[in-house]
Amino acid sequence: MPNEFQSQVIRCSGPNCQETRKSTNHWFIISIDEEPSDPIFACWPLDMDSIEEFGLSKEQRPVCGQSCAQKLFEDWMTRQRAKEALA
Ligand SMILES: [Zn+2]
Repeated sequence: MPNEFQSQVIRCSGPNCQETRKSTNHWFIISIDEEPSDPIFACWPLDMDSIEEFGLSKEQRPVCGQSCAQKLFEDWMTRQRAKEALA
């Protein structure tokens, strides 16, 4: 981080969730690849050091905890099932 007084607000990407990250929260990063031949849902613990160094890429979605992570996972699974039904 270039300046100790600069703050970076991380907001939850969960549906209907307005949570912002505080230093003690246990957040996760979710990365979704909707590539039809190889759809991937990935989830790992948020690492602020890595975000400060590399930033969040556009497909990375922060979530405030297990509940929001599960909502995104359910949405993703529903979309995959819908695609199978069309195939
Ligand atoms: Zn949330």
